[in-house]
Order: sequence, then C-alpha cells, then structure tokens
Amino acid sequence: MSHSCDACAEATLIPFADLGDIPVLCGVHWADAGAAAASPVGRMTLAYCPNCAYVRNTAFDPALMVYDTTMDTNLHHSPAFQAFSAELVKHLADRYRLSGKRVLDIGCGQGEFLRELCHTAGATGVGYDAMYAGPQGRDPSGAEFHTGYAPRGAALPDFDLFTSRHWFEHLADPYEFLADLRERAGDRRAYGYLEVPDAVYDLATAGWEVIYPHVSYFDASSLVRIVERAGWRVEDTGTLFGGMFRFIEMSVNAGDRPRLGDQPIPREDARDRQLAAVSGFAERNRAERSRWRGRIGELVERGANPVLWGAGSRGVQFLTFADADRRLSAVVDVNPRKWGRYLPVTAHRVDAPETLTELRPEAVIITNPAYRAEIAEALRELGVEAELLIA
Ligand SMILES: [Zn+2]
Repeated sequence: MSHSCDACAEATLIPFADLGDIPVLCGVHWADAGAAAASPVGRMTLAYCPNCAYVRNTAFDPALMVYDTTMDTNLHHSPAFQAFSAELVKHLADRYRLSGKRVLDIGCGQGEFLRELCHTAGATGVGYDAMYAGPQGRDPSGAEFHTGYAPRGAALPDFDLFTSRHWFEHLADPYEFLADLRERAGDRRAYGYLEVPDAVYDLATAGWEVIYPHVSYFDASSLVRIVERAGWRVEDTGTLFGGMFRFIEMSVNAGDRPRLGDQPIPREDARDRQLAAVSGFAERNRAERSRWRGRIGELVERGANPVLWGAGSRGVQFLTFADADRRLSAVVDVNPRKWGRYLPVTAHRVDAPETLTELRPEAVIITNPAYRAEIAEALRELGVEAELLIA
C-alpha cells in the first residue's frame, strides 16, 4: 500500500528495510515471565521519502500501540539526562521570557521537565500524557497535569509556548498535530519546541533505537519540512545530547525580526546525508545483529558472564535482535520500578546493578554511548572490574 510523505507531502515513501516482528510495548515490564513472553509484536517496515528523507514505519498499526500509566519510558532516572534537561529549562526560560506565560507540554511524561520549567521561569503550565501516573490538577510549581492524550482544537488551552519532547515521533499523524497547534495559536504570537531522536544518528548506527512506538524518523531536513508545511516559522534547530537528539524551535506571528538561531536552516545537505544513512541501513542492521550474537556467544563460552546494563527501549531492542535466546547472565537497570520484572517478548528479568557484585561479569554491554561515563563510574563504585562494550 502506498503512503505519501507525512513531512513534505510531495512524494511516495519507498520501502528500504524490513526488520520483521518486534516488541510493541518496549517500555513495559511484567511481573510474570510468561506474560512478558506473550506480549504483542508488530511489524517494522521502514520506508523513506526521496524528496525530503523522512522515514516512517509504514506497517505501523495504531490499534496495537496503546499508551497507559503502567508504562515507564521515563529518562529522568539518569543523572546525565537530568543535567541535560536542567540546561534546557534555563535556555527556554531565558530565550522566551516565560515569566507569567503559559506553557503546554504535550507528552509530559511524569512532569519533571514542565514542573522545573514553570518553577524556574515563573510560568504556568499544562501537561498531558497518557503515561502520566502522578496527582491530577495543579501543583505548587504552577503546572497542572492530566493523564490522557492532549485535546485537539479549541479544547486545548491558549499557550505562549508548546513543548513536546520525545513524543512527536510516536504520532500516527505528526503533520496534523503541528497544523492543529498552529491553528490553535490563531493570530497570537506563539512559540514551539520539539525534541525527537535524531534519525541521522539512529539510521547511521546499528538501529537499536528503531522501536515499534517510533512511527517517524526525522532528520534535520524532514523536520524542517513538516514544521514549515504546518504553517510555523523555523527559529532554530540543532542536535543535543551527544548528537542523539534533535530539537527544533518555531514561531508564529513573531513579526519580521531575525530568527533566534544563528545557524543556517539545514536543507539539501542534511537531506543527502540522511539519504546516505538510509541506503546503508538494512545491511548495517543485519551485520550488527549477527556481530553481537557472535560476540555474546564467545563471551559466554569463555565464562565471562556478559551482562546488559540498561533495560530501556534501546536495551529491549538490542535483546530482541542479539539475545533472543537469553544467553546473557543478567540485565540490570538503575530504575527500581523495573527490578524483578520481565522485559517484553524475550522475557529477560531485570535486576538491580548491585547484583553485579556477586555475579562478577567480565563484560558489561551498553547500548547508549551517552551513558558511558555514568555507567563506568557506577561499576567502579560497585567494585566491578569489567570491560565496557558499546553496542
Ligand atoms: Zn518528503
């Protein structure tokens, strides 16, 4: 079935990689190993736009992907992410002079970011997330929270800035989302901040971040295209967090003053880089899966007790591709909500990092280079001398 490009609407998407059936609920963990093993899978068929380099899973089925408060895709347990998030709060509070203004945070997670932004800037805020499991209504920071998807159209409160971090790529119709916010802004001055995984990073590497909940894969060029097509002016865009994330800031009715960003808006060059990443992806993903299966086999054979540190979505995808037969000695994670519980489909149990002091692994695999220093330090504190391998 042909699918026209969600970003530029000027071309039909071309399939380039079929990753087969993968876990749908990669942010969920189960108390029971059998239930984890029986959790749903969905097809991942990647296709790209030859015109703007947008990438999408054309086999995505919205009926399979339901979000609720049992899910935990929260990145805020990591000190590296917290520090990055605190910097972002300062940047947005200063650049948009948010004192007395209203911020909408769509896909607010557990509200940490919006709470901090309102508190730091003296702003009020409204956060929406189907996964939000905290108290409803207003809290002392000036933010109020709602469990559920953000309403559309006139049901959405007026806003001076909308923020949406790591949610846009989950939407079945990302264009409609931006066009609706643009229409809601009307003739008032409004700004927007979007943050997504950078698809150049995701598709130029092994593909551990190509996960079922991610419907769209935006690089600089396709992100600029979809934002402009929805009627916003691009103010600034760039990468964050070691190149793994991309942000884009936008405005409407901001007058004819110069853009806020000082870097040129990426267009054809960015697109060509992304098209190059896309053309090598299927082979690279296949080679990395096979290389890691082999590597884990060697480590197990020589009694090295290899473990995976990090049971987030990247970890789950790595396990699906490289350790479906559960040869690793353990999977550990710093998030206590995951301890003693089981990951989808492969049904690996997640343990506390402290369990490594007894297990004494000689190799610890991580899937996210951004956490390398943090995990190396944690291992030192635990007294575990292991080689750190980055998948
Ligand atoms: Zn396109």
